[in-house]
Amino acid sequence: MHKCKALIISCIDFRFQSKIIEYAMGKGLEDNYDLVTVAGAVKSIEEDSFLMEQIDISYKLHGIEEVHILSHEDCGAYGGSQSFSSKEEEYNTYALAQEQAEQLILSKYPELKVFKEILRK
Ligand SMILES: [Zn+2]
Repeated sequence: MHKCKALIISCIDFRFQSKIIEYAMGKGLEDNYDLVTVAGAVKSIEEDSFLMEQIDISYKLHGIEEVHILSHEDCGAYGGSQSFSSKEEEYNTYALAQEQAEQLILSKYPELKVFKEILRK
């Protein structure tokens, strides 16, 4: 098995790609993570979804121990910052989606560690 430490789930947004790499380097994950990018990161995760399938593949193929969920502010998949009445509401929305994703991931892979981060511009 080709082992790697983590799977990172991020949004496709081009404005955050270097921040995603910075995050991974900061966690000591250089060349040691699988990467799945989907618009809105975990926004569309549910049982038997594309994202859960990717997690399953990463888990079985590379024996990951961690999943890092990287959301970001002003996410177009949520209508951008302007669709929220406040920064707090915006961040709470991302945090809730991350929380639900974490629950779903842990229900299937209780041994994984899940980390959640909201990247800022
Ligand atoms: Zn986004």
